[in-house]
This record gives sequence, C-alpha cells and structure tokens, in this order.
Amino acid sequence: MAWFITQPDCVSAVRDQLKLLPDIERALSRLTLGHGGPRDLAAIAAGLIGAGAIAGHIDQCLANSVSVAVEPDQLSVLVDAMLAPLPLAADMAPALGDDLPLLARDGGFVRHGYDLELDKVRALRDESRRLIMAMQGRYADETGVASLKIRHNNVLGYHVDVRSAHAPKLMGRDNFIHRQTTAQAVRFTTTELAELERDLASAADRALAMELEIFNQLCASVTETADGLVAAARALAETDVATASARLAVSRHYCRPRLVEAPVFNITAGRHPVIETMLESDQPFIANDCDLENGRLWLLTGPNMAGKSTFLRQNAHLAIMAQAGLYVPADAAVIGVVDRLFSRVGAADDLARGRSTFMVEMVETATILNRATARSLVILDEIGRGTATYDGLAIAWSALEYLHDISGCRTLFATHYHELTHLRKNLDQLRCHAMQVREWQGQIVFLHKVVAGAADRSYGVHVARLAGLPDAVLTRAEQILTELESGQHGAVDAADMADMLPLFDRHQAMLPADHRTSRLGDAIAAIDPDSLTPRQALEQLYRLKDLQGTTDDPYQDPPPVKTKRS
Ligand code: ATP
Repeated sequence: MAWFITQPDCVSAVRDQLKLLPDIERALSRLTLGHGGPRDLAAIAAGLIGAGAIAGHIDQCLANSVSVAVEPDQLSVLVDAMLAPLPLAADMAPALGDDLPLLARDGGFVRHGYDLELDKVRALRDESRRLIMAMQGRYADETGVASLKIRHNNVLGYHVDVRSAHAPKLMGRDNFIHRQTTAQAVRFTTTELAELERDLASAADRALAMELEIFNQLCASVTETADGLVAAARALAETDVATASARLAVSRHYCRPRLVEAPVFNITAGRHPVIETMLESDQPFIANDCDLENGRLWLLTGPNMAGKSTFLRQNAHLAIMAQAGLYVPADAAVIGVVDRLFSRVGAADDLARGRSTFMVEMVETATILNRATARSLVILDEIGRGTATYDGLAIAWSALEYLHDISGCRTLFATHYHELTHLRKNLDQLRCHAMQVREWQGQIVFLHKVVAGAADRSYGVHVARLAGLPDAVLTRAEQILTELESGQHGAVDAADMADMLPLFDRHQAMLPADHRTSRLGDAIAAIDPDSLTPRQALEQLYRLKDLQGTTDDPYQDPPPVKTKRS
C-alpha cells in the first residue's frame, strides 16, 4: 500500500479498471455449483481480461518507479496471481457471443465462427426455415388461397393454416391431410411439411446439443482453473483495498503506523476516520493524543456531548486499521500488537433472548473482564449506567480495579461517575483525563480536547436544553439538581426533597412561560386605575409583582410555607 501512495497515476488507472470488473468469485461459485449460465462464463472472461489490464498497469508503473517505498515482492505476487488464469480468458472470450441468454439451454450463445461444425448445423436449421417460407408461397399458388400460412404451435407442430371459408379448396386435394378445424380456421399438414419439420427439429436439436457441449467444456476449464481464479479474485480484492486506502491516506493525511511488540499505544493527534469526514468544513475535527505507555488505563470524564465516545472509538479504529495494514488518521502512531479488541458501548437490549438492557451491559462487561489479557485493548463507554446510581458506581469501581490489577490490559474507560477519579491515588497505572469545555456567557462550549485531569460535572441539563426539552422541565430539573448537589454535602435524601420542593412550585414551573405571561397580562387588563384608592393601587402593585415572579397567583390561596422535614 505504501507503494501505491507514491503512484497516484497508477492508482487512478487501476481504480478506473476495477470499477468495470464483474464479480469473478460469484460467477465461479455459480458455475461450480452447476447453477451458472453463459453470462457467468462471460463474467469470468471479462474479469480476467480486466485483471490482466490491472496487472499490466502495475507492472508498467513498477518498471518506471524510482520510489524507495517499493514493495516488489508483494506486488509481483499480486501481479502473478492476476495473470496466471489469463489463458482461460483467451479460450473463453472468442467462444461467447455478444447477447447472451441467461440459461445455456436457451442456446444461441456461441459466437458465429467459433465452431465450424456448429455453424454448418445452424445453417441447415436456418435453411429449413427458409424452405418453409418457400413452401408456404408454393402452396398459396397451388391452392389459389393467397392468405394461406404455414404456422407452428406446440400441439400440431408446423401446419398449413387457412380461414374456414377457404378450407374446401384444400379438402379435395390428396396431399393436404386435415388435422383440425376451429371456429376461425382449418388446419392441414402435408408429408413434405412433416419431413421438413423433422429436418428442422433435428438441426435445431443438434445445434443446441453442440452448444451445450461447448458450454460444458468451458465450465470444465473454469472448474479446473478454480484455484487460480480464486487467487486472482483475491489479488484484485487486495489491490482494491490497497489502492482505495492509499487514495484515502493521501487525501486525508493519514500516517503509516509503527507496530511494535511492547504493549504501548501512543497516538499523536489521532482523529476519528468517519466523524472527521462528516463534519462541516467550518467545524474541524479536533485531534487528540493518547499515550497508554505511562499509565495504561485512562479514565475519561467530561460533559455529555464533549466527545468521550468519539475518542474511545477512534482509538479502537486506529488499532484495527493499523493491524489490518492500513494507514491511520493521526500524525503518528506506535501501537503494540493487540491480541483482542474489546468494546462496550451504547445501550441495547436483547429481549428475544431474555436479556434486558442492563443484562446485556453486564454480559458484555463480564466477557471483557473474563477474557481480556495484558495484550488486549479495551474501550468501556459508561458501565453501570443502566441500574441505580450506587449499584452502577460500585460495579464500575470494581471493574476498573479488576482491569487495573488483574487484566493488566490497555484500557480507555469513559464515565460520568466522577467519584472514580479518586481511584488515581490507589491505582498507579490509572491516569485521569477529561474533555475540555469552556463556560461562556452562561453557555458551555465543547472544545473536544482531551486534557489531563478530571471533570467536575456532566452539564447534563445543559445538553438537555440543546436537545430541546421543554423549558418547564429544564427549570424544574435545575431546581432538583441544585437541591441534590447541596444534598451531596448536607446529606439530604430524596424523601426530604420531595417535601422540601413544594408541590406549588412544581406546578408553577411546569406551566409554560407564555401561560404565566398571559395571566400577568390578564391581571393588568382587569385593573381600572381610575377606580382605585392609593392604598388599593399599592396592593395591586404587590400582587402584580408576585405574579411576575411566578411564586404567587392572584387567583389562588397563598403558597404553603416551605418547611424542611427533620
Ligand atoms: P455522552 O456522554 O452524551 O455520550 P460524549 O462525551 O460521549 O457524550 P460524543 O458522543 O463522543 O460525546 O460526541 C458528541 C459529538 O461531538 C459527536 O457526534 C461529534 O459531532 C462531536 N465531536 C466529538 N469529538 C469531536 C472532536 N474531537 N472534534 C470535533 N467534534 C467532535
């Protein structure tokens, strides 16, 4: 592949040719299973001719190449594999016509001039047809029935067909033998016509038999060359992957990764190969480093939407691409060979197999903990989120310790359990990293940058606002969050909070803002300033003020006194 990167013209020529190629392996399997037809033979022939052209391009570029990145051995293996079965195409291509039937038994697929015997039989068959036409003209003259026709159907075969009105003209003649009378027509045959039909049928049968014979011979040649065809198809597939990835590597500035034995994972400015192509041009993908050499377990915290999952997955992609022999989207990459890549991401259930969402999460986590070795790479995107907060935290905590102490694998672990960051004191290989964000004018800006350290919060309510949750829900959520966060320090439990946050407040918060505004407007409209005493005017002013603050309602009783249950 490195060589293709230095040969853009060769890549273009090869890829143009590849686009035209049929699927050789598919045609081969149809033919070897006995389901194939003339079009499959043609596909193999066209595929081999295309492969020959591709091999020619590569050979020519190799000869002209002065690149130091030449991989001559691998390339000549590919070229040889593509060229080896080419003689088969030389056998098949001249045999096959242009307009091929789907099934061999339909005949007519062997090119004129390929087999002289077949051409002779076909001429005989076509001559018989011509003779029938001549016979029709003669019978019409003899009988004086200009509309007389010689037709063919599956019951009578070839027969003389005249309208009923003309039938008497033929009935009296010795050579016309009556076969059938219908409402519209009367049908006859003659000895001469029957003999001609026999000749014609036998010529057509013989021609078809000869074509089938040729088809079988070609199929046998294909089967004999099956191994070579499979090798050629694989060489084409490898060339396809190598040229496509070479083009991608150049256009997207990928680098050649270095694979080493030591269990390192050192990525400089890595990017997600898919997401970076999806972002708008004014929104560049933010590259991130990842170094698991000094601290093989990264605990990644940060707000929702900050890019944790993207970071985890991009590193997994890089490992796969590097081990597949591809360039990777990074400035530099040194990757210790990974024996297995484990990932647990997202939430899915498997209800048909009796597994709830959390069960699936736990089954996947169990597999990772039981099977990951010191050479594995593990990405864990949120574990323990599908159950109660403390249960989940406990599971995530102990899984993290297990991965650190027992599995010893390279791990990227994203979590919203900020409590886990305290483990860095006890786990010497644990490094805390966070997604950088900036607060600006009360808004949070995602910088998508991975930095050392731990995040302080998840900004979930903020992301909920971005997602379009109703204002009333957001206001209420903020109230509850404030209480919960103060409870973290003051040990407030949920039952206390349910009493502490009065029902009245909740109803107010749930009312849409425009509803509250309209009630304020209604209250103002109801006031007649000319009829008010100064004291009444002052009272109205207080009522309006209360209404605006949404803590009071002029049409309801005063709110209950807020008390905190002891
Ligand atoms: P959550 O905690 O809600 O799952 P998250 O932190 O895992 O969120 P991602 O799902 O990884 O966040 O990213 C959210 C979006 O941010 C992505 O769909 C992508 O559009 C954008 N994004 C992520 N990383 C980057 C980056 N490095 N550069 C630019 N955009 C990014």
